[in-house]
Amino acid sequence: MLALRMQRALTASGRPTPSVAVMIVDLDHFKEINDTLGHHVGDELIAAVAARLSGAVRTDDTVARLGGDEFAVLAPGVDAAEMVMLAERMTKALDDPFTVQGVRLDVQASIGLALSPDHGSDGETLLQRADVALYTAKERRGCYAIYQPENDEHTPERLALLGDLRRGIDANELVVYYQPKCDSRTGQIVGVEALVRWRHPKHGLLMPDEFIPTAENTGLIEPLTMEVLRQSVTDSTRWRAAGIHLQVAVNLSVRHLTNLDLPGHIAEILTEHDVPPNMLTLEVTESTIMADPTRAVTVLAMLREQGIALATDDFGTGYSSLSYLRRLAVDELKIDRSFVSRMATDEHDAVIVRSTIELGHNLGLRVVAEGVETEEIWRRLLPLGCDVVQGYYISHPVPAAELERWLFALPGATAGTSGTLTPRAMRSECA
Ligand code: C2E
Ligand code: CA
Ligand code: CA
Repeated sequence: MLALRMQRALTASGRPTPSVAVMIVDLDHFKEINDTLGHHVGDELIAAVAARLSGAVRTDDTVARLGGDEFAVLAPGVDAAEMVMLAERMTKALDDPFTVQGVRLDVQASIGLALSPDHGSDGETLLQRADVALYTAKERRGCYAIYQPENDEHTPERLALLGDLRRGIDANELVVYYQPKCDSRTGQIVGVEALVRWRHPKHGLLMPDEFIPTAENTGLIEPLTMEVLRQSVTDSTRWRAAGIHLQVAVNLSVRHLTNLDLPGHIAEILTEHDVPPNMLTLEVTESTIMADPTRAVTVLAMLREQGIALATDDFGTGYSSLSYLRRLAVDELKIDRSFVSRMATDEHDAVIVRSTIELGHNLGLRVVAEGVETEEIWRRLLPLGCDVVQGYYISHPVPAAELERWLFALPGATAGTSGTLTPRAMRSECA
């Protein structure tokens, strides 16, 4: 029906009202809702969103579902300003929370906009360009973006990356950077988080956001993670030989937690390099766990039995159940950087950080604050009893060689100094 109406609108145009708007509306975080609350809740939410979108457009407009949480909207006879107004109306229509099966859900959407004849004269081109605009809108979250030809330039590159990752892994182009985690009281480095980068021969240094989603969708996340593990374990062996014992944290993706072979594979890598399992921490996000909680609990329990430590990453951002925190028996809780980095300027975030530290401690967990961007944030975390700090103020993620320059040049950094030091002194203790 959408295709038919698009064709009709586009061929009918030409005289008084030449332009036709094609928009793609995509819900933010829908997958998380689906994974966490189940498909029946997801389905009902989609239907409720559809009803609100249809109510927000004019009678001549068409709202069609493209699939999943994606809708297309066709609005004939509008100019650019009217198209933007329509997009704003749709965004506004989603403002009030939805209640689905007794659960209150806040839903945001991103919208990509394209207009004929400027951005194309056939339905297929307009849809494709609205999709490119959607990609731009997604990066900013909860807003709309109008198609711009320069956005397009990145798209084919991204598509090319897809086919290229396999080659990149085989060609050893993945590099692990390390970000220190410090004892918040002494400033002593107690561990590092391994964060992968891709040194691409043509595109330069690519950040994980640019290729991890692809890796997750194509099954390449398994070899990727194994490569990150191998590099981190090899590097930590070198540090240990120099007398520096650092806990190394590696991030896991959702797919790993459904793989019952994972614990065995990790054990092999550890044995191969003669690294004790308690030197390794695996970081998993709430949504990773909630995707398939039963299986995740099994896999995580197997890992923990081997003596590997577990951390819940980005805590506070997902729809998780607190009871899983107990069932999983994790060792560490990492408060999401969005709360931490704003705690000095936003009272609500400060309250969330304080309560989360308390919750973690009541459950017997070590609490890590990530996103410590300033000395002031570090200072505020101290009286709250936060155990470990991580963030740009202490150090950005750096290559192994640079970390080693730090570690080896300043043995005091790992000597376990205690006593009250000003945060700056603590920083130089770390640096
Ligand atoms: P994450 O696990 O939450 O990692 C922390 C991210 O926060 C890193 O981004 C780090 O550079 C950034 N960060 C550190 N300190 C600060 C700060 O003070 N302020 C702010 N604003 N940000 C800070 P990065 O390296 O770009 O990694 C992004 C995400 O990619 C990671 O988030 C993680 O989810 C994923 N990732 C990275 N490496 C791997 C990997 O080897 N495997 C998997 N599965 N995911 C990975
Ligand atoms: Ca992490
Ligand atoms: Ca995190």
